[in-house]
Amino acid sequence: MKKIQLLPPRLANQIAAGEVVERPSSVVKELLENCLDAGARRIDIDVEQGGVKLIRIRDDGWGIPEDQLPLALSRHATSKISELEDLEAVGSLGFRGEALASISSVSKLSLTSSAEGQEQGWRVQTEGRDMEAQLFPAAHPRGTTVEVRDLFFNTPARRKFLRTEKTEFGHLEEVIKRLALSRFDVGFHLRHNQRTVHQLKPAESQLERERRIAMLCGPAFIDNAVCVDVEASGLRLWGWVGLPTFSRSQADMQYFYVNGRVIRDKLVAHAVRQAYRDVLYNGRHPTFVLFLELDPTGVDVNVHPTKHEVRFRDGRNVHSFLFSTLHRVLAEVRPQDQVQERS
Ligand code: ADP
Ligand code: MG
Repeated sequence: MKKIQLLPPRLANQIAAGEVVERPSSVVKELLENCLDAGARRIDIDVEQGGVKLIRIRDDGWGIPEDQLPLALSRHATSKISELEDLEAVGSLGFRGEALASISSVSKLSLTSSAEGQEQGWRVQTEGRDMEAQLFPAAHPRGTTVEVRDLFFNTPARRKFLRTEKTEFGHLEEVIKRLALSRFDVGFHLRHNQRTVHQLKPAESQLERERRIAMLCGPAFIDNAVCVDVEASGLRLWGWVGLPTFSRSQADMQYFYVNGRVIRDKLVAHAVRQAYRDVLYNGRHPTFVLFLELDPTGVDVNVHPTKHEVRFRDGRNVHSFLFSTLHRVLAEVRPQDQVQERS
């Protein structure tokens, strides 16, 4: 009979990494969420070879103080919640304290940061070795840079599942798109193999926001969309919905956010589908960029490690609000608003 043993921390992290780090795009998602949680206003993303060789993300957020840097890489270490009650109303994108520990266990990671009021920056790097993270002084303006090299270099079984550079970059770009649509106030600069792919300045006015949407979703979407902004019974829904004539053959232009977090949810999908039912041809998919805001205690985000799923406390109310709001908006669309059919 084999003895029961505690797993060494690195192995435990690698196992946990299976849940959050599937491919380069999942690394980018976690790192960008950290930047946004740190109050960043500008984020620079550099990737090489679809993110497999390198992902470097730099922000101008509030940084991490020197003495906390090694802790940031430990599992279950987070500055975002401290007690069970905090889970009732999570205001940040992260809260599980797992991402950096997981990513660093399956890559060569370095974390450089300069916190407010600190004279210089500091760096910790794990470089995939099973050892204590060491601290070095490093020049860095206020903010944080995380560099992730050679993803899955020490877990060949996972590396095998990576697709071509083009496919991996496609996933990664989609993640950035989703986050850039959720935070118009933040600038994003994406470079792939040293070439600029997106340069998005902070968008304050409605016009600038629509310009960003046009850049990310194509001008046809915004030309064929109507604005929504409705508030009722503690819920607010705002954003843009595509006209029924601007439907797609795939559900590939559907962005739905709950309190700023991009989600995939059956209840939401059902309400939207119902609202479009009478105005959309069978087999066509609606297009939308929509933001639902509600009291954070009305929604549980701790359902799944990737935090893509949520659970509404009063699902029925959310469903009927979404359905009735969208149904009304679509019923009000006049024939002259309907520009043309595209795919
Ligand atoms: P979580 O985001 O769930 O707290 P992470 O492993 O992603 O867990 O990050 C651990 C901690 O490291 C965060 O709680 C935060 O305090 C700090 N941190 C990570 N990235 C940044 C960043 N870009 N700027 C400032 N602090 C950061
Ligand atoms: Mg995080």
